[in-house]
Amino acid sequence: MEEEEYLFKVVIIGDSAVGKSNLLSRYARNEFNLHSKATIGVEFQTQSVDVDGKEVKAQIWDTAGQERFRAVTSAYYRGALGALLVYDISRCSTFDSIARWLDELNTHSDTTVARMLVGNKCDLETLREVSVEEGKALAEAEGLFFIETSALDSTNVKTAFEIVIKEIYNNIS
Ligand code: GDP
Ligand code: MG
Repeated sequence: MEEEEYLFKVVIIGDSAVGKSNLLSRYARNEFNLHSKATIGVEFQTQSVDVDGKEVKAQIWDTAGQERFRAVTSAYYRGALGALLVYDISRCSTFDSIARWLDELNTHSDTTVARMLVGNKCDLETLREVSVEEGKALAEAEGLFFIETSALDSTNVKTAFEIVIKEIYNNIS
């Protein structure tokens, strides 16, 4: 008998410069860039994860800078089963934008999407503008998972992606 194959699409959304590309490069390649430049066009990375002894492949999409032009296309969202909504804990304007990203995600998705609110750059504690409590409260109100991460020092990066991937697996099985 053939083994069942799982391929889950996960999208990363949020304002420019919150650390989306670095979260992905930290997770997929254990790399971090201090001066990452936005690449042109949509990019994704595929990552294999073991869930309940099954090999699950996550195809994780990065906006590659489209968000600067408010032009994240519907193709980007199409078929997504999971989403990371990222803000920067040292810039409250990026937290205020989450409502708009959530709206956009909801508009473009017709299935249950496993959604994680991610407060990135938690290494910048001295510059913090968004408290952990504010993050938690928004997540609770909107029914999202919540985590704070640092792509710089790797805090919770793997956990953030894997909670979403496991939740997708639970949603479909
Ligand atoms: P994107 O536009 O959302 O893809 O953001 P990038 O991944 O390009 O990151 C924007 C800037 O924030 C870059 O200068 C990164 O080096 C920096 N950055 C990303 N993640 C972190 C983090 O966790 N901590 C700190 N201190 N800087 C970060
Ligand atoms: Mg980027």
